[in-house]
Amino acid sequence: MTDSFVEKLRERLLFEGLCDVGFSRIEDTVPPDLAQYNYAVTLVYRLSDAVVDEMESSPTYAYFQHYRAANALMDRCALITCEMLRREGAAAYPIAASQSVHDRGDKYTGIYQHKSAAVAAGLGWIGKSALFVSPRHGPRVRLATVLTDAELPCDAGPMESRCGECTLCVKACPSGAILGRNYVRGMAREEIFDAEKCSRHMKQAFGHIGRGAVCGLCMKACPVGSAGFFNAKIPPKDADYMNERIGDKDEE
Ligand code: SF4
Ligand code: SF4
Repeated sequence: MTDSFVEKLRERLLFEGLCDVGFSRIEDTVPPDLAQYNYAVTLVYRLSDAVVDEMESSPTYAYFQHYRAANALMDRCALITCEMLRREGAAAYPIAASQSVHDRGDKYTGIYQHKSAAVAAGLGWIGKSALFVSPRHGPRVRLATVLTDAELPCDAGPMESRCGECTLCVKACPSGAILGRNYVRGMAREEIFDAEKCSRHMKQAFGHIGRGAVCGLCMKACPVGSAGFFNAKIPPKDADYMNERIGDKDEE
């Protein structure tokens, strides 16, 4: 794809309300039945701090609605991306912002993992919480992905974990689902996170809010991207800076 198309796509998606867009090659993470798609466009939406910060020991009705509205926006932006790619002659396959499927051997997974493409695009890392963490927005984001056969510019390399010694999400999780290990590329999700424990707790404790489909306490607990951590102007350049800041927060 030409630079001008990529710029046009980015501008359109930012206009729609997204906070970031990334491009990556995905041969090593795309499932065999989608192997004709070598590239991915990652769409990122920043959730409302006002809604996230209101949560204390439980998700709120406002958070559940915000989560659903954000997913709807992501799905719309994925369709716009597909159509823009189609008009350029490329094939494009949208991955829903939030959809678990039950034919892939893991009932807590989707058709394709948004995090895989987002990390490969250099937009952030996988935190101890198993959430995608952007250096600028933390885990306070929703993701969607469009797979495509169009060649896209993929200049950034994958981002390694910057969680360091922080354990705030581990302490905040009421279910014990976050095992406390730093994610290293190639690890299975199960090595850092127990999806069954997380899901069971959400259904048992928060069934009255969105039938137990949301929690978000680990997201709220993460200092990265939260107010006061840094003001979303200059992303940290290195792990030492991140660890120093996270260390400060952990001692409060
Ligand atoms: S969503 Fe809630 S239960 Fe699940 S890992 Fe995060 S804090 Fe724990
Ligand atoms: S709370 Fe700390 S350990 Fe958990 S994802 Fe955020 S930075 Fe990483």
